[in-house]
Amino acid sequence: MAEAITKNITQVWWKAGNVPWELQHRPFRVAPHIYYVGNTWVGAYLLDGGDELGLIDTTVFEDVYQVIEGIWELGFDPRSIRHILLSHCHIDHAGGVNQIKSISGGKVWQSKEDTGFMTHEANLELGDDFKIVPFAVDEFYADDKPIRIGNLTVHTRLTPGHTPGTTTFFIEDRDEDGRALTVAMHGGVGPNTMTDEYFEKFGLDKGLRRQFIEGCEALKDVPVDITIPSHPAHGDLMKRISDDPMDYTPLIDPKEWARFLEIRKGFAEKLEK
Ligand SMILES: [Zn+2]
Repeated sequence: MAEAITKNITQVWWKAGNVPWELQHRPFRVAPHIYYVGNTWVGAYLLDGGDELGLIDTTVFEDVYQVIEGIWELGFDPRSIRHILLSHCHIDHAGGVNQIKSISGGKVWQSKEDTGFMTHEANLELGDDFKIVPFAVDEFYADDKPIRIGNLTVHTRLTPGHTPGTTTFFIEDRDEDGRALTVAMHGGVGPNTMTDEYFEKFGLDKGLRRQFIEGCEALKDVPVDITIPSHPAHGDLMKRISDDPMDYTPLIDPKEWARFLEIRKGFAEKLEK
């Protein structure tokens, strides 16, 4: 089982680096004003604030052209992106920041705790497989300072574990009838960077795993209407969407957030033993 998973992940990395078009996915709506513009491997989400746009994560350098194409396809102009929010600074999420910033002038946000991941620490383990283009950070998150993107409000929450600065987003959206919907994305739930071997190899604090578990526990009672994952495979996103790319309603499920966190917490707990 573990071997099968490793093989699959390796194949996906290889495709993302060498034949990125094999990972292309049509863009689709996940909430009234939020759209999926990532690929079949890693997520990126366009936030439509009305007079300005935001983007959560950018995929890798090799795939970022698909993110830009997807935004045009949805009828938006990628040059209107004013905020680029990073869930964490691994290259599969931050590899395209430089290009998105250079076409849009958008402000780059990340957590202070992930500083160095895209420069001297070179993303720790994935760096060798993808092109690393460093970028300048404009703002650090503060959990008590929500980010306004036009009509949308994004609340951030530092949730260390997958990286020291992994950041979770809670977005307040509203449908056409004015009904409020909370959309949440946990910033990073992969257990691959929470093993003892990994912590030792990169000199990271083993306490991160415990912090991840506690973070899942602390957040699971937050009321969330729509759960979106940072990687579509986490939470089977592609299986849960409608055939109509504009119909987000199958994703409304107030039980999914707690269920998702419980499953991801379980993976980390297994590593505690
Ligand atoms: Zn990661």
